[in-house]
Amino acid sequence: MRLVLFGPPGAGKGTQAKRLAEQHGLVHLSTGDLFRAAIKAQTPLGQDADRYIRDGLLVPDSVTNGLVAEKLEEMDYDAFVLDGYPRTIPQAEWLMQHLADHDAPITAVVSLVVPEEDIVTRLSRRRTDSQTGAIYHLDFNPPPEDVPADRLVHRTDDHPDAIRTRLGEYHRETQPLEVFFRERSSFFEVDGTGALDDVQGRVADAIADTRGLSGI
Ligand code: ADP
Ligand code: ADP
Repeated sequence: MRLVLFGPPGAGKGTQAKRLAEQHGLVHLSTGDLFRAAIKAQTPLGQDADRYIRDGLLVPDSVTNGLVAEKLEEMDYDAFVLDGYPRTIPQAEWLMQHLADHDAPITAVVSLVVPEEDIVTRLSRRRTDSQTGAIYHLDFNPPPEDVPADRLVHRTDDHPDAIRTRLGEYHRETQPLEVFFRERSSFFEVDGTGALDDVQGRVADAIADTRGLSGI
């Protein structure tokens, strides 16, 4: 199964991608996580990406596609869920061509729909466990008490200025992809509001109908 999770920042892509990965034995491929790991390791890629991410801007397509190409090869072009990629039309065009070249088309694109007024609340109170990568929300999905406070990271781009820029980037660069996906792949819209388990159930229902998924 080769899935794409689509939606604005804070839609719950990372949360649901982790659940899908666990449920179906997929690799969770988050370009945001890959960039943050590169920043932490102070690699040249990380240093390059850092200045864009801090300000809430998208990392250039050539850099992002290069990173994804490496990971797709490692995964032998199967059993993955993409989270936060593709985010621009050129990225999507590159991905579709690259996967076609390896006879591995996208199984389904699942779009998480969340009203804009929920996004800022979700992002500003998001915390990530620096050790496990678990995603929490201080109100909606609080971390267990045994997770030490100093492990809970408030991302550098989850602050009002960067959130505003990210939403602008989303509307300008990413939202137009919806039409692209509708024309070229199995595209499912899922209500991303409500309890995390309920969203997970809706995502599962959406992909269950996709041909070729049985037994995977
Ligand atoms: P994305 O990867 O799309 O940016 P995340 O999965 O990181 O989204 O979720 C953003 C924030 O919203 C996190 O703090 C997460 O715990 C919270 N969140 C995710 N799903 C829900 C939901 N259904 N209801 C409320 N908050 C949620
Ligand atoms: P979110 O979904 O919560 O906005 P991500 O963790 O997916 O956060 O991405 C964080 C940042 O990493 C983005 O704001 C952007 O700067 C960079 N990034 C992640 N994925 C891409 C991508 N596909 N193309 C360009 N930049 C990206």
